[in-house]
Amino acid sequence: MTKYIDAHCHLSYPPAETDVGAVYNAARQSDWENVISVTDMQNNTFGAIGIHPWYISEITADWENQLRDLLQKNSELLIGEIGLDKHKPDMETQIQVFCNQLLLAYEMKRGVCLHCVGAWDKILNIFNVFQNKLPHFILAHCYSGNPKDIERLAEKYNMYFSYGPRNLQDTERLRSTPLDRIVAETDSFNPNDIVIIVNRIATILNIAPEKMADIIYQNTLRMLGI
Ligand SMILES: [Zn+2]
Repeated sequence: MTKYIDAHCHLSYPPAETDVGAVYNAARQSDWENVISVTDMQNNTFGAIGIHPWYISEITADWENQLRDLLQKNSELLIGEIGLDKHKPDMETQIQVFCNQLLLAYEMKRGVCLHCVGAWDKILNIFNVFQNKLPHFILAHCYSGNPKDIERLAEKYNMYFSYGPRNLQDTERLRSTPLDRIVAETDSFNPNDIVIIVNRIATILNIAPEKMADIIYQNTLRMLGI
């Protein structure tokens, strides 16, 4: 049977009832415990905890210790949603918080869910500096970088690319992504909508919907190491 999994979404309170799999991402430090308890309870759901670049001003002094501690106690957790956003203030702190989380992901062999708006040059520079001290895999959520970079990034950084409502308008990136690196996301509070997204990807790539769903499901499990 074809299965579906939303590679990047967020939790509503209370969480949506879902028939599909989901990777729930925290954005703020105050989301962490909730992501852990919901993903512990619901089948086929996975959690990512981290500091989103929009919320760096809310972090407590011991955020990093708290993050490390929760990751140690929960071996399945990913780190996310983390990254850089040029539309938000204090790029210097954004970079610092992002780099610390990247190092933690490397140290603890976790994947990361990456948010990047208008800062691909900065992020690629950081990856270059970190060299081989990088996360286990990188999920470029709502990928907005250069289509020409996709194949190289996939290979060099074990990167997967997720497509959803906001980055499917321009189809060039999707068409430039190797089939085994495509995953799908809603970036919403309702992972059930992933079926619509997968069907849209199937239409754009001219692949039968059932087959596309299967490819995306397998890609997501491979990315997660399942
Ligand atoms: Zn998100």
